[in-house]
Amino acid sequence: MRRASLALLFLAAPLAATTEEPVEVACPLCANAFRAMEWGSTNSLGGQDRDFLTHAAGGQVFLNACWTCPACRYTGLSQDFESEQAPKELLEALRKENSLRPAAPIDPKLKEAWKIPAWVRYDLWIQALRLRSDTPRGLLAFAHLRVAQTQRFDWIATEGVRDFEKRGGALWDAMKERLKEIDDGYEREITFARGLEGIEGAEREFALLLAAVIYKTRGEDPDAARLVAVLREHKQLEEGVAAALREIEERIARAREYTLLALPLFLEELGSEAGDREKALWLRYRVGELLRIVGEKEKALAQLEPLLKEEEPPDGFRAWVEEAIAKTGR
Ligand SMILES: [Zn+2]
Repeated sequence: MRRASLALLFLAAPLAATTEEPVEVACPLCANAFRAMEWGSTNSLGGQDRDFLTHAAGGQVFLNACWTCPACRYTGLSQDFESEQAPKELLEALRKENSLRPAAPIDPKLKEAWKIPAWVRYDLWIQALRLRSDTPRGLLAFAHLRVAQTQRFDWIATEGVRDFEKRGGALWDAMKERLKEIDDGYEREITFARGLEGIEGAEREFALLLAAVIYKTRGEDPDAARLVAVLREHKQLEEGVAAALREIEERIARAREYTLLALPLFLEELGSEAGDREKALWLRYRVGELLRIVGEKEKALAQLEPLLKEEEPPDGFRAWVEEAIAKTGR
C-alpha cells in the first residue's frame, strides 16, 4: 500500500528527514518476539496545529512510538517494554486476565508492530493506562488526543484519485510565489487550502477535495466537513473521489469520538493545575479549541472568551485565543 505523502508535496523547505529504525522487542507479558520502530530524531519544520501537534518533515515519529505486541496486545511506549521499567502492576493484572481488546482485528502472527494501524495501538494504550492506578489524568487525556491526531496522516483513498500527487503539485506550483513567503508550515498549508477553495473550472472538484484533505491533515475538521458537504452536492463525482470523501468522514468521526472522550479528562486535569497559572491557561485554551473542533461552538466560546481578559498572558497566548474565537464564529 502506497500512501500519499502530503508533506513531500507541500513542504517548500528542504527535507530534513526524521529517523526511525526497527528494533527487536521481547514482549514482557508473553515473551513473543516482534519488531517495533524506535525513533532517533524528528523536527518541527511542518509547523504546529492548533491543538499543539507539531508536524515533522519526513514522517511523523509519534505514529510508531506506541508499540503493541501482536500476539497478546500488550501496549505501551518503548520503556514499557524494557524489563527494568515495565509496569509491574499492569503486567500482573494482565497475567490474571488479559482484558485488552483491539478496536480492529490484529493478526497475532504479525512480526512488525507498526503495521497495526496507529489509532488501534493508541486505543490499546488507553486501555493499558486505565488499568494502571498511577496514570495521571493529563496523560490519559493526551492518549485520547493522540488517537484523534493519528487521523491526520497515512491517507489511503486519495491514491484512488487520478494523478492525485501530480495534480496537487501543479496547483501548489500555481500558488508557489505567494506560499513560499510564508515561513510557518501550518499557515502555509492552510493558506494553500483557502486558495484551493477559490479554484474554478475543470479542476474545481479536485481542488476542493485536496483542500478538504489538507484541512483534515491540519486538524481543522470543521473546514474539512464543510467541503465534504459541498462535494456531496455534486451529481457526478470523478472516479475515486467518493471513496476519498468517505475516508475523510471516517477520520473526522473517529477524531471526534476520541476528542469527546479526551475533553472531560482535560477538564479534570485543569482542576488539578491550580498551582501553575501558565500551564492552566494553555490547558483552558486547549479545551476551548477542542470544543470548537467537535462543533460545540457555544461551549468553546464560553471557555475561550474569558481568556482574553487575562492580564499578562503568556507569550503568544492572546493570538492563539483570538484565532480560535474568530474560527468558532465562522
Ligand atoms: Zn505479548
